[in-house]
Amino acid sequence: DQKKNFETEVVAWSKGVIGDTEKPIVISGPSGVGKGTLISKLMKEFPAMFGFSVSHTTRAPREKETIGVHYHFTERSVMEEEIKAGKFLEFASVHGNLYGTSIEAVDVVADAGKRCILDIDVQGARSVRASSLEAIFIFICPPSFEELEERLRARGTETEEQIQKRLRNARAELEQRNSPGLFDHILVNDNLDTCYQSLKKLLGLNEGVDTTQKSTHKMTDLPIDHSASNIDQ
Ligand code: 5GP
Repeated sequence: DQKKNFETEVVAWSKGVIGDTEKPIVISGPSGVGKGTLISKLMKEFPAMFGFSVSHTTRAPREKETIGVHYHFTERSVMEEEIKAGKFLEFASVHGNLYGTSIEAVDVVADAGKRCILDIDVQGARSVRASSLEAIFIFICPPSFEELEERLRARGTETEEQIQKRLRNARAELEQRNSPGLFDHILVNDNLDTCYQSLKKLLGLNEGVDTTQKSTHKMTDLPIDHSASNIDQ
């Protein structure tokens, strides 16, 4: 019965019943590139339109982070149990910690009648691509590696060891930005305002657009492929 529902959903999507302007948005890119800032700007300007998918993570909260707003901070053992129980759409080990998007995180946004924004790493983007959630995939790229390093240091939220780890991962993520069939759009964040305007443009948020538009993309009851596990990387 569940299978049948799923197929009906997929047909609806591929027929464009849920159009491009309503699909969830996956935003990836190396740590420090400014994804978070771009997403906050978007949510601030269009609060009725977008909702953030609040991920789970086993890393410690940063000073300015709020529980349940930026992340659901969790114990590794608890999160691993929940992954086993099938509660996650995707998960990955990033910079030594576990991060994941719960099905509920996406559904909460859909239930609020908003378009979901996911801030996840490239492994997560791959998993979502392979899942039943049809989304738009955007990669945010720094103007140069040196600039990224500078921004990461200026942020001052990581230790030197963590910065080195993030820079190594950044190289790997940057190499994958042109992976066939993975990202729909690549935006270079050279200047924040220019990049933000480009992001709005590609999301169809030009002047005169009805930004009160509602959409629902529920994940519940859709099958999840656990074979593409990103754990233990
Ligand atoms: P940070 O520790 O700086 O908040 O995030 C580190 C990295 O983890 C970022 O690249 C971010 O996009 C990614 N990330 C955050 N949440 C998730 C998630 O739910 N799944 C995956 N795969 N990556 C995530």
